[in-house]
Amino acid sequence: MQSDTYPKNPEEAKKMVKAFECKMCGECCYGEGGIFISDQEISEIAKFLDISRADFIRIYCEKRLGQTGIKTGKDGFCIFFDSEKQCLIHPAKPQRCRKWPFFSAIVKSKDNWDLAKDACPGINPECSFEEFVRQASKQSHQQKHIDTSVKNPGHCTGYTNTQNNT
Ligand code: SF4
Ligand code: SF4
Repeated sequence: MQSDTYPKNPEEAKKMVKAFECKMCGECCYGEGGIFISDQEISEIAKFLDISRADFIRIYCEKRLGQTGIKTGKDGFCIFFDSEKQCLIHPAKPQRCRKWPFFSAIVKSKDNWDLAKDACPGINPECSFEEFVRQASKQSHQQKHIDTSVKNPGHCTGYTNTQNNT
């Protein structure tokens, strides 16, 4: 627990609400081509799927705007989205999916945060923007620790499902 990001007394702590808790509705996995992936993520997902990088790119990726992105399925969802199991590559899913909704564009703009709340039922409408930013800062600190110290690509910041592998 970080003393700079968490309340120091029980009364303050009681007032603290969770800024985000994924409802697993799948909305954020729907839509054409927003999931760009880095070279390192290509390697991590290919390794997770136990296939070569070349096969992963050939089967699951497409080039968009000069970048590599995960394909969209015929149903309009990300090709790795499963309506029952949710994200089929959850332990290796891209940064972009892990970070939602704590994106810098949302953390820096209350207007963007309002738009994000409309799009994502997991963002707590009872939580203030200031509290959201505070929890985003905490999340970011934890993520850096995980990325640099534990090297665990499976940490989920956004799309959490404790019932299955998503
Ligand atoms: S992150 Fe938001 S939009 Fe995506 S599945 Fe969770 S609740 Fe739904
Ligand atoms: S990789 Fe997983 S979390 Fe990301 S959009 Fe696809 S199904 Fe959703």
